[in-house]
Amino acid sequence: MGKHSSIKIWKLYKIEGNKVIRLRQLCPKCGEAFLSKHKNRLYCGKCHYTEFISNKS
Ligand SMILES: [Zn+2]
Repeated sequence: MGKHSSIKIWKLYKIEGNKVIRLRQLCPKCGEAFLSKHKNRLYCGKCHYTEFISNKS
């Protein structure tokens, strides 16, 4: 389902000043897909791993 787009590693990080901001997080369970961010959770479309994120900014 869906198209596979090539993901470039360097695009996963954004440098701001001298700190690196991680834009996408690799799934800790299967380690093969990136977690997609939803309202209050991160979701792996591959193994369906879900990680809830707290809403403290
Ligand atoms: Zn996964």
